[in-house]
Amino acid sequence: MTALRVHSLHALAYCERLFYLEEVENMRVADAAVYAGRRLHVELERAEDEEEWLTFNLASEQWGLVGRIDCVRRRDGVIVPYEHKRGRSARSRAGEAEAWASDRLQVIAYAALVEEHTGRTVPEGRVRYHADNVLVHVPYDEQARADLARAIARARELQASVERPPVTTNERLCVRCSLAPVCLPEEARLAERLDVPAQGESPVRATLRLFPADDDRRTLHVLTQGARVGRKGDRFEITARDEPPQLHPVHEIGQIVLHGFAQITTQALRLCAEQEIGVHWLTGGGRYTGAWSAGVGSVQRRIRQYRALTDAELCLRLARRLAEARARGQLSFLLRASREVGRAVPAVKDAISGMRKLLSPLARADSIDSLRGYEGSIGAYYFSALPHLVVPEAGEAMRPEGRSRRPPRDRCNALLSYGYALLLKDVTNAILTVGLDPCLGFYHQPRSQAHPLALDLMELFRVPLVDLPVIASINRRQWDEDSDFQIAGQQVWLSETGRKRFIGIYERRKADQWKHPVIGHSLTYARLMELEVRLLEKEWMGEGGLFARMRMR
Ligand code: SF4
Repeated sequence: MTALRVHSLHALAYCERLFYLEEVENMRVADAAVYAGRRLHVELERAEDEEEWLTFNLASEQWGLVGRIDCVRRRDGVIVPYEHKRGRSARSRAGEAEAWASDRLQVIAYAALVEEHTGRTVPEGRVRYHADNVLVHVPYDEQARADLARAIARARELQASVERPPVTTNERLCVRCSLAPVCLPEEARLAERLDVPAQGESPVRATLRLFPADDDRRTLHVLTQGARVGRKGDRFEITARDEPPQLHPVHEIGQIVLHGFAQITTQALRLCAEQEIGVHWLTGGGRYTGAWSAGVGSVQRRIRQYRALTDAELCLRLARRLAEARARGQLSFLLRASREVGRAVPAVKDAISGMRKLLSPLARADSIDSLRGYEGSIGAYYFSALPHLVVPEAGEAMRPEGRSRRPPRDRCNALLSYGYALLLKDVTNAILTVGLDPCLGFYHQPRSQAHPLALDLMELFRVPLVDLPVIASINRRQWDEDSDFQIAGQQVWLSETGRKRFIGIYERRKADQWKHPVIGHSLTYARLMELEVRLLEKEWMGEGGLFARMRMR
């Protein structure tokens, strides 16, 4: 059995779920407080004192522990381990300074390590709280030994389980927790109260914002044929013939997308692995061919996913919710776009009324096959209305003729297909970031090259991230009918300038903020993709009910 890190016991005493996320599911999100803590420790390492031994590692076979101790001092002939904390001490009911439970357990574990290592009795450990300049003495007595043994036994029990423990009942702990953005405790509590508001209503109580509104890392698209992404220190270097090299600091990049025959070096891939940067490939024609990630995702998460998504009833329930969300999004878009066009087009009105009639049978579909039937009919209405949303000034060449996929047969369909490929890439990236397996979905079948779970999830975003910006950009006459497209017989593709223009429009749309009607917070579409994947995972962890509740207004 691998040794437990003393630091993991600190997490355990803070919140069992935190221990599980860090130690069992291997999640790490270094936030500002964690970095500040590390800086404090680095500064402490510089101190010098004859009676001090600073920052060293110890292991105990007896306890099955390993730990890195801040400082051990000799005081009045006995050896005392010290732990330094940036924050303030806790207060007893009587107002006396005391150690927080997690800090107490940590310093007790250090005392156990030092005692075993030196063979000398260690009567206590001490915690120095720097914010209020308080030193707390923690006895290492029978009670402390019993508490340590109990904590280690509980840690072992959690390690053997595939179930993630529930969120802590002490909400204040979550505000300071570095893993709140992946744990989503507020969303779990909201799901528990589950008064999910009906469409158009506000949430019962807005959740605390613990999920960041935006990811300040951007997507790096490499479009130049033959360009190469290499590594130069902590930067990516893009070199291409006849172009000056470009440098991009690694901390600014969240994904690298290689289009066509662009290449990436082993050194750059290794940097991507270290920094958890996803790498994706699209063909020159705009087909998404695959992703590389540094193997995120714990086996426990996958076991829970496989168990849940082989349950036909749950799959149907999720598929119904997803299909309804997509259909309502399509309907809202038609209503909104026809208002913007400023005239009541009979074909659009007919499509809207046909779609409305199908919404309730779709929400009650009793099998995946009948759901597909309703969804197909709604989709047919929707795509029959799209040509009428294009304003006459945009030109006939930009007006779509129904939906043609492989290959696209007009300019508008070429734009839609390219957008869906980029969307598939982003949703796959979100799934890999969360650590689920994109190969197992709940609605789409593994027929094509694309991963079923990614195809499932992209249904939520097709309208807001692709259909809407495509029609809006056509109506704003942002496209050059000639230079942005390549036409070969019946097939229409985007040219290199067309692809660059599209990527600009798409990335700006991803950065748009949007208020989630259930969670009650605004966040970018880029973040929303990750949030929906995390909410999907909660559907099989007893915290479900919030997935696919987003609605376009
Ligand atoms: S966010 Fe809250 S519930 Fe989640 S791990 Fe942190 S402290 Fe525990």
